[in-house]
Amino acid sequence: MTFLHMRFPEGKTKAVTLSYDDGVRQDLRLAELTGARGMKCTFNINSALVAKTPGGGKLTYEELRTEILGKGHEVAIHGEYHLAPGTSRTLVGLRDALNGRLQLEEHLGCIIRGMAYPNSGVTRFTGGSDYETVRRYLRDIGIVYARSLGGDNNRFALPEDWYCWIPTAHHDHPDVLDWAREFVDMKINELYLDARYPRLFYLWGHSYEFDRNRNWAHMEELCDLLCGKADVWYATNMAVYDYVTAFRSLVFSAAGTICYNPTLLDLFFETDSGVFRVRPGETIRI
Ligand SMILES: [Zn+2]
Repeated sequence: MTFLHMRFPEGKTKAVTLSYDDGVRQDLRLAELTGARGMKCTFNINSALVAKTPGGGKLTYEELRTEILGKGHEVAIHGEYHLAPGTSRTLVGLRDALNGRLQLEEHLGCIIRGMAYPNSGVTRFTGGSDYETVRRYLRDIGIVYARSLGGDNNRFALPEDWYCWIPTAHHDHPDVLDWAREFVDMKINELYLDARYPRLFYLWGHSYEFDRNRNWAHMEELCDLLCGKADVWYATNMAVYDYVTAFRSLVFSAAGTICYNPTLLDLFFETDSGVFRVRPGETIRI
């Protein structure tokens, strides 16, 4: 065996995920737009800013339950009051993230472990905290990934650090349509062996920007480009995290010819010999 690369569910080589912030009313239209195309979006919500009554600028917990979670999208933490950990004292940043988690879980009745950093996030530190401290307290309070920003690129890479998950692009990045075309046109299994690792296209933004910039049509064009591809898995941020970390729990013999799956997910990888599926609890020969 000269190579072994992770594959997404059903052996797919690529994944697409989206992340949209602040729990605004336009999220309902975005959830509909993406859901109709079989895509999954993570919506990042400030727990203290959720609306008490429907019809205003922000969503209610009932709307989050039925229109977001109920439609297969994800709700993630965006702080209690939208405070950037980098510009907050350690205790304030920690409290904002923890209260955000406690309140979302209490109102939505499910476990929430994902996060998108509010504001400048961890891109600059002026509040007396530092990145290692933030990463440690997020891990301590049960948050497993946090989306950052500021590094748009077309590497389509999985995150090296789950607490500094850099998306592919904001939806208004001038190159985003070109990058989306490059992504969907990419034939992973025609690349040289070492380059056949899985690719992720990760889009982020705020859905109110589509109203402000009158460019819902741009988002439709982008989603039309990305949706419905046989080699692409459409997943929330948390589903990507769960799958990748489960994959990293696979146990291999020293020669790499036996593989045991100790997780509860069906896992896939590809070697010179083809695509393999390992079911939960199963041991296979490669
Ligand atoms: Zn925000």
